[in-house]
Amino acid sequence: MWWPNFCLMLNNSFVCLLLVLQKGLKDNFADVQVSVVDCPDLTKEPFTFPVKGICGQTRIAEVGGVPYLMPLVNKKKVYDLNEIAKEIKLPGAFILGAGAGPFQTLGFNSEFMPVVQTASEHNHPVNGSYFARINPADGKCLLEKYSQKYHDFGCALLANLFASEGQPGKVIEVQAKRRTGQLNFVTCMRQTLEKHYGNKPVGMGGTFIVQKGTVKAHIMPAEFSSCPLTSDEAVNKWLHFYEMKAPLVCLPVFVSKDPGLDLRLEHTHFFSHHGEGGHYHYDTTPDTVEYLGYFSPAQFLYRIDQPKETHAFGRD
Ligand SMILES: [Zn+2]
Repeated sequence: MWWPNFCLMLNNSFVCLLLVLQKGLKDNFADVQVSVVDCPDLTKEPFTFPVKGICGQTRIAEVGGVPYLMPLVNKKKVYDLNEIAKEIKLPGAFILGAGAGPFQTLGFNSEFMPVVQTASEHNHPVNGSYFARINPADGKCLLEKYSQKYHDFGCALLANLFASEGQPGKVIEVQAKRRTGQLNFVTCMRQTLEKHYGNKPVGMGGTFIVQKGTVKAHIMPAEFSSCPLTSDEAVNKWLHFYEMKAPLVCLPVFVSKDPGLDLRLEHTHFFSHHGEGGHYHYDTTPDTVEYLGYFSPAQFLYRIDQPKETHAFGRD
């Protein structure tokens, strides 16, 4: 399998990032602490990832895009995370992020939370991914661990991925409590970086926990829309929205500025150990919300199978 693929080197100075993030987050949260720490062991609760860290040979990859989902679905757009790891020159990569579930295996559409150690010469791949769908019985969220029923490494249509060697190492810890501004946690970090770095894109990925509070989330319907979705209003009618409760384990991937690759600049999905998962929009409890995150800057940005025809809706 081969997809058109483009690679760009990113700005990734650690110390500068710290100072910039600390200052920017202060405009949006009452309590902010940004520091460099050793990555906590991500094999432990609540993360339960198949690897210990998010360090080593870091990359961001955006695969496909919203134009493959709407106006109407393009069912040819199916991918395999083991193949994507090879495309980004990191077979064996640990990959996390946000995308559309592998309908080619599941037989329906869903929100996908990739958490995968891909195949290498030395390792069998491990799929720790989750997917969330709308429970046909009651319309509520149904979150499942992918590997409980399925054994492939598929994903589909669109994915925003952060890849690394999965090693322990230094990461940027971000604690933010009580939201005083309008921006969600990820948008605040991203816009802060955009303001500071301008046309030199910075990309980051990792994981954060919503420790307290609730978030607004969405889950896509199991059936792709049969009538064309051509505006944000139409997309919002099609999606199902929920409020979901902490603790939530989020898988953020963001890039400060699009260097002209039709990027989705930020995309965060989350799972939990209490049956809730989906696409993160923002917290709905500014007075009590608490975020704790671990981030790594990406060394490279890859754009895989960029849609030729594009549009601007459905990117929220
Ligand atoms: Zn999403």
